[in-house]
Amino acid sequence: PPITTTMPIKDQHKMVEDVLESRFSKESCISRYEYSSYLKNKKHYKPSTYLISKLRSYEKLHAQCGPQSLSYRKIIRKLSKSHSINGIKTMECKYLVWTPTNGLGNRMVSMASAFLYSILQNRVFLVEFEADMDGLFCEPFPNSTWLLPKNFPHKNNWSQLSTFKYRENSGEYRVLPSFMHINIQHGHGDYNLRHFHCNGTLSVLEKIPALILKSDQYFVPSLFMISSFKEELNKMFPKKDVIFHHLGHYLFNPSNEAWGLITRFYQAYLAKSQEKIGLHIRLFHHQKVSTQKILSQILSCTQSQNILPSFADTKSKQNFPWQNSTIRSKALLIASLYPEYAEELRSLYWTRPTITGDVVGVYQPSHEEYQKFGDNMHNLKALAEIYLVSLCDVIVTSPLSTFGYVAQSLGGSKPWIMVSFGMNGHQNMPCKRGFSMEPCFHVPPQYDCKDKTKINDFASLYSQLKACDDAWWGAKLV
Ligand code: GDP
Repeated sequence: PPITTTMPIKDQHKMVEDVLESRFSKESCISRYEYSSYLKNKKHYKPSTYLISKLRSYEKLHAQCGPQSLSYRKIIRKLSKSHSINGIKTMECKYLVWTPTNGLGNRMVSMASAFLYSILQNRVFLVEFEADMDGLFCEPFPNSTWLLPKNFPHKNNWSQLSTFKYRENSGEYRVLPSFMHINIQHGHGDYNLRHFHCNGTLSVLEKIPALILKSDQYFVPSLFMISSFKEELNKMFPKKDVIFHHLGHYLFNPSNEAWGLITRFYQAYLAKSQEKIGLHIRLFHHQKVSTQKILSQILSCTQSQNILPSFADTKSKQNFPWQNSTIRSKALLIASLYPEYAEELRSLYWTRPTITGDVVGVYQPSHEEYQKFGDNMHNLKALAEIYLVSLCDVIVTSPLSTFGYVAQSLGGSKPWIMVSFGMNGHQNMPCKRGFSMEPCFHVPPQYDCKDKTKINDFASLYSQLKACDDAWWGAKLV
């Protein structure tokens, strides 16, 4: 059981040194020191020394140019007075402001992508957290803050800024503004997303001192398509399917309040079981699917893959499993907006014996009924559940959900993914094993920037990319 108070300080620091900076006080952010010890029974992925050195250099840049620094005040004052970059000579600090849209999973995958882009462009990474994201995460960078200052120019007015739109001839931008907004959100910024890897995008964006980014996508695969980033990225990430795993561990440390929610639930319901199974049930058309259909697909997946035990006859001797010393207790953690699946599964595993004699406890931290916006507690619960699922030994996810992507990547697990969840058509294959821990990029490049031609099967052109297992149109790093 991963109660860390017994762990020698030396070992705690060893883990922290991996990707985290150790110049923080433990009390300010307990999860930074404890999270990896909760994962200690799972496979450990070591970050490259190059990634660690890049993070350390980034931290220096952030301390030098971030809010609270002298340079920040000087540069922001200068920028707010000039509409264009003409006349601004060298710029010692450039900024990328991440702005929120959509749910927490979407926010976390896009923040990680935007942070990586910032590292590659030597930009200071700032986040605009509204009240609904207040107090979810600890500060990731020592001696500074990543929170966008309240008096940042044009804040609350991003839509009035000059907006980036990809043009084949980037020379068309004669006057470049000092602040520029770029939308690469799915459904709104698809055109920019499809061309994000083109030189025409990079050559404009790299000159902008303050870039305001709106995205809900994991666009890291696009960064690999940019030739000037490729070598650097390959050095930082020799292994491609742990990119979010490392960036996520570095950036997202649950605040003490969130960590309290996570650890209390873990210790009360999960810690003592011999195997923990995390199941995220996300249905995009919940009203239209029958509970029984969902349940039968879940059972057919988990029982055929020996994730959960199958049911035995109620009259069998398995009714008394405690007579057998090899019985195991399994904890099934269900994360879902809806209560009915956990209720039914709890009742089934209570009223029916299992063929192995294993007993299954079913636990669900919350059921919020629908996705809420602008609600801090709702996000705190979602964050806690993402982390709880990440701590499970086996993870089962729903297709297309970034909530599940974040849990599986943080936890370093290849998930089992439900196939055509809640729809007809899964027949013989209720779920399949994911081939990578990385999140899927739902709007990957579809354009050959040099030949100026559209490519439908972009993933097949690059050995590090494959079509996603849950979305044939998406691309995922492997
Ligand atoms: P996606 O829409 O599935 O890709 O995931 P997002 O995280 O971006 O958005 C879904 C949002 O719905 C979450 O952020 C939560 O606010 C809520 N949600 C979805 N599933 C769950 C769940 O299992 N537990 C909780 N607490 N909230 C959930």
